[in-house]
Amino acid sequence: MINRKIEEALNEQINAEMWSAYLYLSMSMHFDHEGFKGVANWFRIQYQEEQAHALALMDYLNARDGRVVLSPIAGVPAEWDNLKDAFEATLAHEQKVTSKINNLYALAEELKDFATRQKLNTFIAEQVEEEDTVRQILDELTLVGTDGTGLYQIDQKLATRVYVAPQL
Ligand code: MG
Repeated sequence: MINRKIEEALNEQINAEMWSAYLYLSMSMHFDHEGFKGVANWFRIQYQEEQAHALALMDYLNARDGRVVLSPIAGVPAEWDNLKDAFEATLAHEQKVTSKINNLYALAEELKDFATRQKLNTFIAEQVEEEDTVRQILDELTLVGTDGTGLYQIDQKLATRVYVAPQL
């Protein structure tokens, strides 16, 4: 039987991943409306990835004979001033998620739940990749500033992203 504290923390993480999905879906819809179809595509895939993160944790909790309890998903912003704003918010959010996963890992270690600790390894690696990708996009956005052609090129590049189910 899985430790109650771990079960609770995993349910919290599931909710956090679902909130992330909701946040990126909102960003996708906003930038679609603003005419940045590539950015909208990028965030739509981000939304799919976050759902995959949440589902992987749900499947894991069930596999451990724990109870998945889906809590309400808190509201998300609906507008961002510009691309840089949205990607800065994305980086800040992913950094928060990273620290939540680190705390969960520490709890699993403390309670000697080695299965959960091992499961979280892929999530820890995933966060390094998430933060790095967003940082690269932010670097490009800083380079182009408010240059329309540059922003158009970034949008074109983000349009090429395709969804690949994360291996969790
Ligand atoms: Mg995630």
